[in-house]
Amino acid sequence: MLHVHAHPDDESSKGAASTARYVDEGVQVLVATCTGGERGSILNPKMDRPEVLENITEIRRKEMDAAREILGIRQEWLGWIDSGFPEGDPLPPLPEGCFAAQKVEDAAAPLVKLIREFRPQVVTTYDENGGYPHPDHVMCHTITVAAFEAAGDKDAYPELGEPWQPLKLYYHHTFHYERMKALHDGMVARGLESPYAERLQDWKPDPENERRITTRVECAQYFAVRDKALLAHATQIDPDGAWFAVPLEVHQEAWPTEDYELARSLVESELPEDDLFAGLR
Ligand SMILES: [Zn+2]
Repeated sequence: MLHVHAHPDDESSKGAASTARYVDEGVQVLVATCTGGERGSILNPKMDRPEVLENITEIRRKEMDAAREILGIRQEWLGWIDSGFPEGDPLPPLPEGCFAAQKVEDAAAPLVKLIREFRPQVVTTYDENGGYPHPDHVMCHTITVAAFEAAGDKDAYPELGEPWQPLKLYYHHTFHYERMKALHDGMVARGLESPYAERLQDWKPDPENERRITTRVECAQYFAVRDKALLAHATQIDPDGAWFAVPLEVHQEAWPTEDYELARSLVESELPEDDLFAGLR
């Protein structure tokens, strides 16, 4: 299985518990990280020091090494430069040479090469909105869809190895309304303060988006591994922030799955699924 992610830390915040489950079952999992996270902010106040910011690329590589060990995966860098999250009105242009400013056929090339070498059956990435509107996440989606198709085409990128066609392509659906609401309700039911109260006030149920979810992978027993991998990205996650305000037991009871959308399949499987390898076993 190949997960394609935009930045170091995305592999630990999206699909990490199902990754840990599949690794435990003996599946070889490779994470391809499009960028080095060079333009990421420091999101943990305890790590917000000038010497950390100066060495952010090297530090994020070390964080990724630690997360990789925790998840038991292989990981490769695709070598693109983080585009940063554009802020302001009007939005500033993308920095020159960054990942999101590349031509799709160029940006997809290293991924096509990696798919042909690793030969995954299942590939995952974000949906067309990127999961959240970071230009690198949207670009990650675009190149993964392009590479999924091109890798098996003998006429595409003939210099990048023998064609290999992955069989299933999934999108992560991690931060969707139903899950947030279930976590919120789980907190309230226990008399705990929900970190999602404010967000849920102007976040309405989105049945159309929920309908996109085809596949729910039970992985509650691996949530602790997910938390550990995420904490390894110390510059990107505040251990005292909203993410960890919901206790593990509430996560396990309120929403024991990680959720995916089957976007493309070359095999037969019955929907809804509870396994990313349904139809391949
Ligand atoms: Zn990201």
